Amino acid sequence: EYGSSQIVGGHKNELMNGLLVSGFDKRSCLSRYESILYRKESPYKPSTYLFSRLRSYGTLHKRCGPYTESYNKTLEKLKSGKNIGSTECNYMVWISFSGLGNRILTLASAFLYALLTNRVLLVDRGTDMADLFCEPFPEMSWLLPLDFPLKKFSNFDQKSPQCYGKMVKTNIINNSTTSLPPFMYLHLVHDYDDHDKLFFCDQDQSLLKRVPWLIMKTDNYFVPSLFLIPSFEGELSNLFPEKDTVFHHLGRYLFHPSNQVWGLISRYYQAYLANADERIGIQIRIFDTGDGPFQYVVDQIISCSFKEKLLPEINLKGEPIVSSTKNQTLKAVLITSLTSGYFEKFRNMYWEHPTVTGEVIGFYQPSHEEFQQTEKKMHNRKAWAEIYLLSLTDKLVTSSWSTFGYVAQGIGGLKPWILYKPLNRTSPNPPCRRAMSMEPCFHAPPFYDCKAKKGIDTGELVPHVRHCEDMSWGLKLV
Ligand code: GDP
Repeated sequence: EYGSSQIVGGHKNELMNGLLVSGFDKRSCLSRYESILYRKESPYKPSTYLFSRLRSYGTLHKRCGPYTESYNKTLEKLKSGKNIGSTECNYMVWISFSGLGNRILTLASAFLYALLTNRVLLVDRGTDMADLFCEPFPEMSWLLPLDFPLKKFSNFDQKSPQCYGKMVKTNIINNSTTSLPPFMYLHLVHDYDDHDKLFFCDQDQSLLKRVPWLIMKTDNYFVPSLFLIPSFEGELSNLFPEKDTVFHHLGRYLFHPSNQVWGLISRYYQAYLANADERIGIQIRIFDTGDGPFQYVVDQIISCSFKEKLLPEINLKGEPIVSSTKNQTLKAVLITSLTSGYFEKFRNMYWEHPTVTGEVIGFYQPSHEEFQQTEKKMHNRKAWAEIYLLSLTDKLVTSSWSTFGYVAQGIGGLKPWILYKPLNRTSPNPPCRRAMSMEPCFHAPPFYDCKAKKGIDTGELVPHVRHCEDMSWGLKLV
């Protein structure tokens, strides 16, 4: 038994843990207390300002959360369709949409946006949000009540009359409009158009401020572009003096595996990973069609692992090296993939041949689900458990374009080696590169200068927002 005070005492520097342990029922979320037994202390410390803003967010959330007096009052506006007078609490409703990695990134983005605009974040539970995550805020749920009066809001799209971009496009609203509706839908999905992208302009932000309910659907980590909005700049640099730690801190603050998922994580870790001297994660996500395993991917991973000295080379000829079993280094390689073919190839390779260093390498893959099945509970629990297990490794190799890998690297505080995306079914050369930062990539950023009203390369404006390693048009914080 380890009391929470003991845990906090052992990690006095971990402001986040101090923030995390008060005001929660321990049994309802074991991961919140036990995760520090599985991972090293993060070298990245949240700023005291972030710490205090998160604390005050918790207070706001408690005062404005579901069924509070303020919530009921703001809800009245929604029901009446009238937006007259100011409200004490304004809301950001996040719609559950897309794969799990995408959802974790968009929820963190929506939370940061809520923090910047003093809104209260409410989470559409979709099929399984409540099954996968603990409640992150003390004493008040973040889940949108099931009796929320807007029906089928998750079906909103670009054509919905409440869509902000559409309203601008059709001249229903502009900056001088005096009476705004009580809610608007923000379409920030990868297929969004130039009007939807006006979300990233200051003028539009000042209009959106006057709308008590914003409902957002997105599949993108849009945080890098928030850093390019002048009115957010100052606050963001106070919150994050180290700009490449946004998702790392927010991810660890928001996403605690539920007890069911924590069981999957802790049992797997103890059974297969705990005793290794070093843990290496390899996340394999293939976007090419057809049945794998593809030899060009096998070659690419091996060439990256050898070149970057992540795995020892094998001795293909000559006498097998018989090394003493005493003091032998054991490396555990955790592979995640939808199929088992790659895992089998690597495991056999290191079983059939000795390593040149004498190290022993074990390969483990928790599941092979064959294809994405986002609607299934156990499938998503396993996906979350695997993302989390990858985040517990010491060194991580990820696949290009994959948000699954981004979440693992961010929560783990790891700068991964990114496998370049193969072109024309051939191994790229070089096979991989080290990431500039552990931040996720924003895959569909706007390229627009709001002041000059013309196109611009948003990856060239400030030193801390750059184009991504794995997607040339994407943006990431570095
Ligand atoms: P992305 O498509 O790689 O950006 O990642 P997402 O997580 O958004 O969507 C992919 C989905 O496919 C995941 O959420 C899982 O449902 C599934 N998936 C992909 N790779 C794996 C894997 O290695 N393990 C498991 N268990 N599921 C995976």
